[in-house]
Amino acid sequence: MCLPSGCPPDEPHGYNRFFIVVTRPDTVNESRTWMCLICGWIYDEATGDSDHGIAPGTAWADVPLNWTCPECGARKEDFEMVQI
Ligand SMILES: [Zn+2]
Repeated sequence: MCLPSGCPPDEPHGYNRFFIVVTRPDTVNESRTWMCLICGWIYDEATGDSDHGIAPGTAWADVPLNWTCPECGARKEDFEMVQI
């Protein structure tokens, strides 16, 4: 760990460390989120809905049509994609 007070601003180690953290492909989350327009419940593709058989990483398009909002029972058509 390189503290700001312990290294020059242009010190490569500290800079690279920051660079890696913000650009690692598996931490740049491409998953999308969908919000229930009825109750505001959020479906996150990265999280899924494991309580209802939707595995983490399940794309919204792959969520079964008979799946309903865990909170209010709304159907997929009542959800809208949101940016968080
Ligand atoms: Zn809902």
